[in-house]
Amino acid sequence: MDIQSIPNLLNIKEYPESEIKRILNKELIIKLSNNENVYGPSPKALEVIKEAVENLQFYPDPQAASLKRKLCSLWDIEKEQILIGNGADEVIDLILRGLLQKGDEVIIPTPTYDNYAIGVERCQGICRFLDMPMGNFDLVEIQKSITNQTRMIILCNPNNPTGAFISGLALEQFIESLPEHVILLLDEAYAEYEYAHVSGIRYISKKNILAVRTFSKIYGLAACRIGYAVGKSEIIQKLDDVRLLFNTNTLGLIAAEASLDDPIHIGKIKYSNQKSKALMVRQLEKQGISYYNSSGNFIMINTGVNSVEMYRRLLERGIVVKPILHEKYQTCIRVTLGTDEMNNYFLDTLFGIL
Ligand code: PMP
Repeated sequence: MDIQSIPNLLNIKEYPESEIKRILNKELIIKLSNNENVYGPSPKALEVIKEAVENLQFYPDPQAASLKRKLCSLWDIEKEQILIGNGADEVIDLILRGLLQKGDEVIIPTPTYDNYAIGVERCQGICRFLDMPMGNFDLVEIQKSITNQTRMIILCNPNNPTGAFISGLALEQFIESLPEHVILLLDEAYAEYEYAHVSGIRYISKKNILAVRTFSKIYGLAACRIGYAVGKSEIIQKLDDVRLLFNTNTLGLIAAEASLDDPIHIGKIKYSNQKSKALMVRQLEKQGISYYNSSGNFIMINTGVNSVEMYRRLLERGIVVKPILHEKYQTCIRVTLGTDEMNNYFLDTLFGIL
């Protein structure tokens, strides 16, 4: 099949693996475009899902009480301080719709997760993009950019796609400097992959902070669509006001809860991710290819070739990655860390192309 003729080429990352195989007419593809967990969820999560399929005629618990109880003891918080959503994406959407008004300014360091800007614009907010120097956070620059019109700052920690990470001390100092009129949205979707990560949840009583988490990444439950936000109860109430009653589903809720009971499984994934990252980085260095240090389950690689062109060349060979479109990073691709086999196949293919 002629790759050039595939419609909506860049949106292929939105398709499930089976659909990509059909479009490319390939038996095997290596999907490294969505930062999914290639090792899958805890067997404990699979077990409860199997039992629960007997009861699909019943609606889910609209308050997600059982999962909230577990999260409350995990984080030492009250149930009024948690909002559960249909993945972190819905949670982010509820935060923006619940808190932003037309004309509100939102500071977003870039490159970062595309959905923030899409969501802010949907609410008729104004995005103030700040370029990240060398793919890292410049918290002083962010502080200096705050004005009386700034309603929100969105920080993705660790950041997708650069992998940059804000240390505990830097985060604490930044949070302390925040003025009262600003809400800090901390997207911690990849937090569990970084051993030194300190969650913003620790500071929710001090400032207007919303920390967002997901079961789609290290917990391996992306198909189940469960994410949550933690913040002051007054803020969480505003988000709950714009939430649909049955916004989550039973299988996701119980699988998320069961996966919290399996820290050993999560520990193994964290360790495997760390190991594959070290292996990949070593291979890239050997070949003299530059990359950005990542605290997540992905690496942003500067191949020196236009990102869309590289994306296309890899796609032709059955590998799906994410091309970075930000003007300062146009020769970068973001690659999810897969199994050693997947990573080696990707690296061999990349080295063959370059
Ligand atoms: N935040 C970030 C930074 C992400 O990368 C993603 C998923 N790609 C999400 C949020 C959304 O995750 P979920 O599957 O929980 O909606």
